[in-house]
Order: sequence, then structure tokens, then C-alpha cells
Amino acid sequence: PETKLPKVGTTIFTVMSQLAVEHGAVNLGQGFPDFNVPERLIEALDRAMREGKNQYAPMTGIPALRQAIAAKTERCYGYRPDADAEITVTSGASEAIFDAVLAIVRPGDEVIVLDPCYDCYEPAIDLAGATAIHVPLDPRTFAPDWDRIRAAVSPKTRMLMINTPHNPSGAMFSADDIAQLTALISGTHIYLLSDEVYEHIIFDGARHESVLRYPELRERAFVVSSFGKTYHCTGWKLGYCIAPPALSAEFRKVHQYNTFCTFAPAQWAFAEMIEAEPAHYEGLGAFYQAKRDRFREQLLTTKLKPLVVPGGYFQLVDYSAVSDLDDVAFCRWLTIEKGVAAIPLSPFYEAAPAGQRIARLCFAKNEATLDAAIERLLKL
Ligand code: PMP
Ligand code: GLN
Repeated sequence: PETKLPKVGTTIFTVMSQLAVEHGAVNLGQGFPDFNVPERLIEALDRAMREGKNQYAPMTGIPALRQAIAAKTERCYGYRPDADAEITVTSGASEAIFDAVLAIVRPGDEVIVLDPCYDCYEPAIDLAGATAIHVPLDPRTFAPDWDRIRAAVSPKTRMLMINTPHNPSGAMFSADDIAQLTALISGTHIYLLSDEVYEHIIFDGARHESVLRYPELRERAFVVSSFGKTYHCTGWKLGYCIAPPALSAEFRKVHQYNTFCTFAPAQWAFAEMIEAEPAHYEGLGAFYQAKRDRFREQLLTTKLKPLVVPGGYFQLVDYSAVSDLDDVAFCRWLTIEKGVAAIPLSPFYEAAPAGQRIARLCFAKNEATLDAAIERLLKL
């Protein structure tokens, strides 16, 4: 048959997790914590289910959760989105990304993505009948190259997708990036999709440059986030999209027929958790920074060279002192022969830089897990 996604196979996350299970490897590949969610969240979820909050939620999300998101957004970024008109609760950031693209991007349009980028962006663009235009980030710092992005803009450009903190590198937009972005889209009809799922996992006192801080940007933007990352529950698949009323109205046309609503009991649980324990998300940077710093120190005793990690929960390592295999082959070898699963970077690119020898390790893990991985990595 004539297929719609001919280039798409099984995601690298699934492939590497399966390989890790088959070979009993320590899985630092697919990004997910191996520690549990906060106790209060479990109690609140359990209570919601016992209280019978088990039927369809409102299409846009329960009001208490949208209010909690509005208040949290104001607290973090000084802007309070309208809970009724601007916030939609979704089945993870993934659904939000698909809804936004399908709502706004038309056949024949172009969407600029910055490589390396998360692997679900391009399929969403392809399904909308549009073309992804790939612009590489700086190969060392993973910062946007604004000259190249400007050069990629055409009359067909409908959307620009950004991701800060960035998966896989952890790079974060600076105030200067925001200024460049504002100059780039002002006076155009380009929409923004800002993937901010790692918004609270930021280190060294840095400031998360949310698009929501900036009126000229947020008036053209879909900003997506994920409770999976903030509350250690990637398997709950709950996220949301904040967009101006007219854009949210279009977004909801897709959301209401795609899923209609998402898991209701967890919405009640997050509504309670966000309000009752702001210390959880406010302390998330420090929580992960301790893991990052400890893991980095350990990696420095191996032959892998850790790159700088400004945010997120992934550590990139240069493995050129260990192997000259390409990154997919190296990560398979590391998993099968050395017992540590990692994610290669090339699947995040249309065309990865030739000779790039970098792998991604997830440090959202208990110390014992990271210690077990290091013990194996010391034998490289
Ligand atoms: N964007 C990025 C950059 C991610 O890393 C992830 C998580 N894998 C997602 C979106 C999807 O988030 P969710 O699991 O909430 O759908
Ligand atoms: N976002 C996760 C990562 O980057 C994976 C999500 C998935 O398995 N699709 O590792």
C-alpha cells in the first residue's frame, strides 16, 4: 500500500529498551526515572479513584487542574494564562505536539525543526502533509544558529519548533536566543511550538527562558509541557498545552476528536499536588543537579568524556577514546557486550554530523543504578 510514513520504523527508545531487557543491561537509554512518584500523588490518585472520579473529564481538562496550571505558570513565568480559554490538558506532551501541528500546519507548508530534535516532531509534520526543514544546532554547544534559521525561512514557513531545555543535549535557550527568535518571527505569520517538558530540570541557577514570559512570542505559540517529567511518572502520559484563545480553539478541535479527554483520576491528583507542594517542582533542579554532578564525577574516571549538561536528565558522552564505531553500532555493542544501554544521537537528526561519536545516558536513576552502570563502564 501507499504508506504515509515510509521512513518511520520502530523508535530508537523502544529498540534500545528491548535490547536492554534481552541482555540484562543497565538501562540508561530511554528516558524515565527508576524511582517512584511523590507519595502524595499516589494517595491523591487512589483517593480520586475511590471517590468515583473515573468517568470522562471535561474535554479541556478538569477546571481545578487548569486553575492549578494557570497559577503555577504565573508563579514561574509572571504570566497567568486564562484557565478556560488557553489551557488544554492532553495525554502527554506527545499528544499536544500532534494536536498543535495537525491543527495549524497545512499540506504544502514548511515547518522548521532544529536538529538534533525529539523523534516525534517530523512524523507529525509528515502526517499534516507538510515538509520538515531541518536546521542543525551548533554541533558542540547545541545552541541555535540564528543565521541558518533565518536562511531557512521561506514564504511557506508555517511553524518553528523549539525545545528548551533540549533533548538530547540539555542545552537551554539564552536571553539572546529569545531576542533573536522574537526578531525572527515578528511581522511574520510563523507560529511557534515550544516544547518545554524539561522546564523544571534546570541547573546552576540558570533561568528557564519560557516562551510564556514574552508577550510577542506567546501570542503566536503553543507551549507544551509534561507531568511525566516533572512528577517522575512518564507512564501516566499527562501533559498540557498553553496557547492564546484563538489557537487553543483550533487545538481543541483536534484534541476533542483525537482523545477527547485524558485520564481523569490523575487530573484530580495533579490539581492537588501542584497546589499543595510547589516545593516539588521548585526543588526539581537541585534534585537532578545532585545526580548530574555525581554521575559526571564518576564518568570522569572512565574513558567516556562527559559533555556539559545545562538542563534535562540526559548526559551526553563522547566515546571516541573507546571506539570508532558509528553511534548506533556503538550503543548496540555497549548494551550487548558491556551491559549498559545508551541512546545514539543520529536518530535525532536528518543528517548527523559525519564522524560524531556521542551517546546519550539518562541519569534519572537511583544512585545504585548509576553505580552499577559505572562499574561496567570502568571496564571499557
Ligand atoms: N518532548 C520531549 C523533548 C521529550 O523528551 C518527551 C519525552 N519523551 C516528550 C516531548 C513527550 O512527552 P510525554 O511523555 O509527556 O508525551
Ligand atoms: N522522551 C524519552 C526519551 O527521550 C522517550 C520517550 C519514548 O520512549 N517515546 O528518552
